[in-house]
Amino acid sequence: MNTRPRFGPAGVPPSFKVMKAFLADVPRLLREEGLDAFEYQAVRWGEKPQMRREEAEKLGLKSRDNDVLLSVHGSYFINLCGDRQTIEASKNRLIACANAAKWMGAQPLVFHVGYYGKRTPNQVFEMCKEALKDVVERLKSLGLESIKLGPETMGKHSQFGSLDEILALCEQVEQAQPVIDWAHLHARDQGRFKKVDDFREVLVEIENRLGTGAIKNLHCHFTKIEFTEKGEKRHHVLDEKNYGPDFELLASVIAEFKLNPVIISESPILDIDAIKMRDILIKKLQG
Ligand SMILES: [Zn+2]
Repeated sequence: MNTRPRFGPAGVPPSFKVMKAFLADVPRLLREEGLDAFEYQAVRWGEKPQMRREEAEKLGLKSRDNDVLLSVHGSYFINLCGDRQTIEASKNRLIACANAAKWMGAQPLVFHVGYYGKRTPNQVFEMCKEALKDVVERLKSLGLESIKLGPETMGKHSQFGSLDEILALCEQVEQAQPVIDWAHLHARDQGRFKKVDDFREVLVEIENRLGTGAIKNLHCHFTKIEFTEKGEKRHHVLDEKNYGPDFELLASVIAEFKLNPVIISESPILDIDAIKMRDILIKKLQG
């Protein structure tokens, strides 16, 4: 249970890479910046974990030592609504990432559910739900029942993952919790976040459907985003005035509802924008 709002980067920040830091050093370096969350990127993984167990456990240990909350972003090569072979491989990829998450002590395992292709949204929803239920059964039989699966709201119209779809999946699949990528929702819904109320509405909907516990420690991604009529185009840094959404507005609702979310920065300058968002929220909380 997370007792304060937390901020951190999606992956190792560029400046850490320049100094050739080891993965196990990342939690301490984040702590030195006053950050306290880290989303490990297993985004290029195949059907087997692509890190050694010892390395994963060491990252977990160092994260706990530095009070940095770990999560894992699962493989991009997951599509639970593809052909039979793709679905099977996707399930294996999710399970490989879940294994590593267990080694690290990370939660949740964030993932992109899939693409509609030529199917209707209803067909796709049923396919994804069945596939995910099967994954949950397999995780249980592997002793991985503690791993939370985090389907993410997606920014392109070709991708499964509207707010309603993600919440419906979480209503119907055990071990699932929503991951709200605010930029993706903003892009998908053509700039929906213009005022505080627009953010409040989303949080209230999640609470109504999944309970207060679901918003208290909500796992989020936040960046500014550029979009077209098809949805997401690219992520931008927080200081870009031409793009939304505005983190100030979300910070107002976090303060108003007294939430303790985990906010992962997916901006091109990862940790620097995580620090900016943290400072915006601290100001709000001081009233
Ligand atoms: Zn993602």
